[in-house]
Amino acid sequence: MAEPMWTLTKKLKCYLLLHVSFLLLVTLALAFFGYHFLNLKSQKLETVLFEPSMVVRELDNQQVVNLSRGKLDNQQVVKLSRLLNFQPNLLLPCRHDVLVLTPWLAPIIWEGTFDIDILNEQFLLQNTTIGLTVFAIKKYIIFLRLFLESAEKNFMVGHRVNYYIFTDQPDLVPRLTLQKHRQMVVLQVRNYSRWQDVSMHRMEMISNFSTQRFLHEVDYLVCVDVDMKFNDHVGVEILSSLFGTLHPGFFGFSRNSFSYEHRPHSQAYIPKNRGDFYYTGAFFGGSVREVYRLTKACHQAMTVDEANGIEAVWHDESHLNKYLLYHKPTKVLSPEYYWSFHMLPYMSEEQLFIWRTILKKTRFITILKNHQKLRN
Ligand code: UDP
Ligand code: MN
Repeated sequence: MAEPMWTLTKKLKCYLLLHVSFLLLVTLALAFFGYHFLNLKSQKLETVLFEPSMVVRELDNQQVVNLSRGKLDNQQVVKLSRLLNFQPNLLLPCRHDVLVLTPWLAPIIWEGTFDIDILNEQFLLQNTTIGLTVFAIKKYIIFLRLFLESAEKNFMVGHRVNYYIFTDQPDLVPRLTLQKHRQMVVLQVRNYSRWQDVSMHRMEMISNFSTQRFLHEVDYLVCVDVDMKFNDHVGVEILSSLFGTLHPGFFGFSRNSFSYEHRPHSQAYIPKNRGDFYYTGAFFGGSVREVYRLTKACHQAMTVDEANGIEAVWHDESHLNKYLLYHKPTKVLSPEYYWSFHMLPYMSEEQLFIWRTILKKTRFITILKNHQKLRN
């Protein structure tokens, strides 16, 4: 049935009005949500830019930081709040008196060159675990108590630490109560009759245990002598892919007088006109991967030397020096990290003056004057 014309026009008007209103509503809704979405995005960006956070980078060849690991106690979330306030002064070098950077741009660690609060926060964010390897074979077991007690006070305080004690006498290892997040692992190993062999085979044992255990248990390894004491703070400022420590006995000497192995038929051979620094065999380390490479290479070189009937002049230390010459360390520790007060009587007035002015800390020190009695 046909409707009257005016009814039809009215219906059409009504329909159009409804349609326009609906479109208007949709546009309004879109504008509202769009505004909030964009605003939220820019807010997120602002938060990312200004929130205290870890600089996104790969630290020392480790896997990219997993931020959920930034909890040490499950309640304590670490934030890099100090990064916001810290302002290094570009016109004020941290030290005027010593070299603080190698020619291959590795930092040389001296007191006054680092801010431990920043570093602690960075390494806590990564939930870093540090393995400290030490050998106490035969009579050297007597050093272990003082070594461990001093490490509890001064070594990587506040971080996760695994002590790996290599010994032939597990029963004589002192049972100490350790601080939170620290544990002791006793690894029974064989001994050797010659002290040189005990010292050299440390490289073999560290490389073997690196693949068996260390790779799965810790991020970094620090490998040290046991006849020592942590006399002052030794912390995460030392950690890097590969680090060695300057021997205080050769500080400032020309490389001709370093006691490198100079006989060409040894695998540790370094020509007279080569060499950066003389590193001590008593303190080196790095990521587990790099320490594995170093110890494996040194052990293999010593095996070749043995087959050729030659032993490098300073044993494992000579091989370590050769390795670090051709695989440049990513950090170098100053003699603050290996100091011997027993050297003082043998020093010239000039040397004593230099040490008195530049050495602000003696962090890791020898405690033995004469090794002969213990070695025989
Ligand atoms: N060492 C050991 N028992 C020994 C000889 C050496 O456990 O009979 C280990 C110990 O960790 C020691 C390291 O090998 O600190 C290096 O030997 P030493 O300290 O005598 O060498 P030096 O300090 O003279 O380089
Ligand atoms: Mn020693």
